[in-house]
Amino acid sequence: MARRIANPARTWATQLEKRRPGLVAEVLDGLAALYGRPRWKPRLDPISELVTTILSQNTSDTNAARAFAALRERYADWAAVERAPVRQLVSVIKSGGLAAQKAPRIKAALKATRLKSGNYDLSFLKEMEPLAARDWLTAIPGIGPKTASIVMLFCFGVPLMPVDTHVERVSKRIGLIPEKASLKFAHDAWLHLVPPERMYEAHVALIRHGRGHCDALRPDCGGCPVRARCRHVNRRAP
Ligand code: SF4
Repeated sequence: MARRIANPARTWATQLEKRRPGLVAEVLDGLAALYGRPRWKPRLDPISELVTTILSQNTSDTNAARAFAALRERYADWAAVERAPVRQLVSVIKSGGLAAQKAPRIKAALKATRLKSGNYDLSFLKEMEPLAARDWLTAIPGIGPKTASIVMLFCFGVPLMPVDTHVERVSKRIGLIPEKASLKFAHDAWLHLVPPERMYEAHVALIRHGRGHCDALRPDCGGCPVRARCRHVNRRAP
């Protein structure tokens, strides 16, 4: 008989459901009562989403949008961006911050996409298994599981959880993932915690909660709908 390969993230999710039954559903329902249930709809085209997400690494959405606009204004098409000298591209996207790191990443992402698809169309990712698509994207230098999951979730509706600082903080406070979990573990754990059809809703709700009630410095636990089940409030919360 074939032996099941050990998967620590799946084991964590299974044990959490045994120790704290119904936790994920109750958290999502509580957050839905506060923020509603967003319906998925595609945002940008996939290659623009990928470039924008690289530009948004370690900076605000406003700065990233400004850098993206400058890039689109300066270059006629993606081929011109890929061909551009790194120093020139660094100068064009400097409003996004860390431009010296991001310019080579953008060029590498465009090159990998062109070599795979013959153009700058990432729609082949939709036909791949979700984790294989994530692996393909994360093989590009400078692209981690968060960036890859954003592209897959927002462009194709594929149920991968992008774990940003808000998702990580809220998840750890409630006890949905271990306090010392790595980002890699957090990305994998969420795949086993939430049903695929609620992944987008879960991601959007956790971000909103992290930007609202579950502030990094002063969480408003009194007005939080998941207070009764949050380990930040009570170390023994069910
Ligand atoms: S109870 Fe407080 S710490 Fe827990 S999720 Fe709500 S706001 Fe965050």
